[in-house]
Formats: sequence, structure tokens, C-alpha cells
Amino acid sequence: MSTRTAEHLPRPAAAAAAPLAPAQAVPQERILLSAPDVGPVEEEYVLAALRSGWIAPAGPELDAFEAEAAARTGAAHAVALSSGTAALHLGLLCLGVKPGDAVVTSTLTFAATANAIVYCGARPVFADVEADTGNLDPLMLTRALDELEAAGQRVGAVVPVDMLGRAADYTRLLPIAHEHGVPVLADAAESLGAAHAGRPAGSFGEAAALSFNGNKIMTTSGGGMLLTDDAGIAARARHLSTQARMPVPHYEHEEVGFNYRLSSLLAALGRAQLTRLDGMIARRQAVRERYRRLFAAVPGTRLLGQGQDAEAPAQDNAWLTAVLVDPEATGWDSGALAGHLAHMGIETRPVWKPMHLQPVFAGAQAVVDGTAESLFRRGLALPSGSGMGEAELRRVEEAITAFLTRAGS
Ligand SMILES: *Cc1c(COP(=O)(O)O)cnc(C)c1O
Repeated sequence: MSTRTAEHLPRPAAAAAAPLAPAQAVPQERILLSAPDVGPVEEEYVLAALRSGWIAPAGPELDAFEAEAAARTGAAHAVALSSGTAALHLGLLCLGVKPGDAVVTSTLTFAATANAIVYCGARPVFADVEADTGNLDPLMLTRALDELEAAGQRVGAVVPVDMLGRAADYTRLLPIAHEHGVPVLADAAESLGAAHAGRPAGSFGEAAALSFNGNKIMTTSGGGMLLTDDAGIAARARHLSTQARMPVPHYEHEEVGFNYRLSSLLAALGRAQLTRLDGMIARRQAVRERYRRLFAAVPGTRLLGQGQDAEAPAQDNAWLTAVLVDPEATGWDSGALAGHLAHMGIETRPVWKPMHLQPVFAGAQAVVDGTAESLFRRGLALPSGSGMGEAELRRVEEAITAFLTRAGS
């Protein structure tokens, strides 16, 4: 890291002495679920971008970030955008989703997936998930597509979600969607660096959306990317992301566009994070292994995604580790564990509340069998950040062990 400070840059006085890297954990500091993991490498890249003069959302940092992310995921084209939600929105539009279409997605996801469908004037249809992984269940997808077809409803797209960093079972999902003539947009917001059947997450379907939000496996503070092998989809997404401005000297527009391009400075942050991605994934996997060992001795608990599919082995990026608690077997529930950890200054979060149970989507069509609801009721995501040091991880383990001892497990 450069020891020179950029004196010509206006900074708030209070922040002048603050280091960019998160402070070393002092005992009893709050431990977060997935804090951004940034330090000297990121500082160097962002400062270099700032000094290069390319501040607008265009230029060599953006081009390089797109090329590097495409290389990393095996996609032919990458379009850097202001958020994962923007990537989902443009991805759906570029796949031809139209007002009035149905779009089938997993009910176990973050609201952004469903919101992007609504932005297109389409309606989300929520399908249930597999108990092992929390990913879209191929049988439920088939049922949903058959129901929609029988009702004469046009289906604009299928959007599988790679839950907590494990790629969905595209080996089974893609043929089902394609047999029904429906394109697939993968919500890979959580799964950068993961793989399925030997292929990187983000390379499945007609297009895929990544997120670089602050809590994701890598961050640009806020940002996202649309990945695709289709040059036409990439060109159209790029066009729509820059206000659909035609390539002429004056401002000429033939349709309504969006201001969705990623800033160059944030692309530089993303490039720095990409150089560290493998190390950050390895750390999250090591954290998951520690939780696996801890809960292996506790009957009635298991980690989400623990069951491995021998035919199409999946490689998680271990973005978040969630423990599933069966209160009938343990005598305590995930809420009690969450309460204890909160008291100890440790953040946890229930697994996504299914979209078909959300008030905002109360009227939506759902093809469900209770699996997502059960994962929501039993699942608790534990601190999983790659910036979490050994002392912090031990503090979490000790707090869980103290809870288990008191609960008599
Ligand atoms: C984070 C996330 C998004 C949205 O990404 P943003 O960059 O926050 O807009 C979409 N889908 C899933 C599954 C996510 O986890």
C-alpha cells in the first residue's frame, strides 16, 4: 500500500485518519454475517483508477473488469452494471420478457429476483426447492411450466437461483426449460466462483446475473454484471444500460433506456477483489468446514447443501453457511440459537423467507410443497465472511458450544 496520502482529495475531516481496511477484531466487537473483505490491494487499485482520470462509467477499468470477469466465469461477454438487480432486469428484457408474461423462479430467494420480474411488467410464478440445497426443484419447475402451458400462459423466462453460493442443478433444469421453449436467466448473484458439473457458475443458461453488493462473495461496494455467450444479448444490455443512446454525435433515442452502468472507480475495486477471489473462497470454505465439524456432533442439525450429488458434483463457493435445526430432535430451535448469538454480539440471519409468503407477492401463483417454508423455519445463516479472523471464528464456535451445552445437546 502507498504510504502517501492523496492530499488533493477532499475528505471529511473525521474520516481522514480512518484506515480503509476494517480494523483487526477487538474482543467483543460485533461479528457480522458477511462483512466486506477489503484492504491494501483494493486501496491501491481504486487510488490508481482515481488518478487515471477515468471517473465516468466508461473507460479501461470497466473494459478490463468485464474481460477479467468473463475469463473467470467462461462467459464470452460481460456487461458491468450498477447492481445485481439491474443485471436481472436487463437480463430478462434481453431474453425477451414482455408485459403479461409469466416468469418462473425459485420461491427461496432475495426479493430482488422477483422485483426484477415485476419491473418488466411480467408476473413471477414461484416454484419450490430441493430440501438438500434450497435450489429450484426440477420437478416443481416441470409442474409450474405444465400448469402455465395448460392455461395458455406465455412464459418469458425461467430464473433459477444459486442459493447461498451453490449452483442450481442446471444439468436437469436447462433441458426442462428448453423443452418448453423457455430461455433461462441464472440468478448467480451469490455463486461467483462456484461450479456445477465442472463448469463455472454464471456460465449456465442464456444469460446470468452476478451481484457485487457489499455482503457478497466479492464486492464493488455496489454493482453487478450480466454474463452471456450471446453477442446480441450483451450488445443490447450495454445499449439499454446507457439510456439507450444511439451511436451518433447528438443525443438520439429510439426507446426508453436505463442508467445502469457501473462506475469506473467501482470496476477498479472489483478488479482488485477478483485477484483475491480464490483466497476469499478458500477462507469461506474453511469456515464452513469448521461449522460442519461443530454440528456433525449435534443430532437434528445439518448444514444446507451438505448432501452431495455424486452424478453432478457441485463445488460451492460457501458464500454463507446455514445450519438447519429440527427442533423435534434437538429440543431447541434456530430462533433460540440466533437469540443467544445476538446476545453475544454475533449476527445471524434466518434463511430467506419464501417469496410466496411475502405480503407484497401474496396474490402470486405458487407451485410449492412446503420445502422452502420448512428451510425458512429451520435455517439460520451463520457468520461466514472471508475477512473473519481466527479469533472471531473461535468466538462464534465457543458461543455456539456454550449454547449447545446449556441446551443439553
Ligand atoms: C444480492 C442478490 C440479488 C441482488 O443483487 P444486488 O446487487 O443487491 O442488486 C439478487 N438475487 C440474489 C439471490 C441475491 O442474493
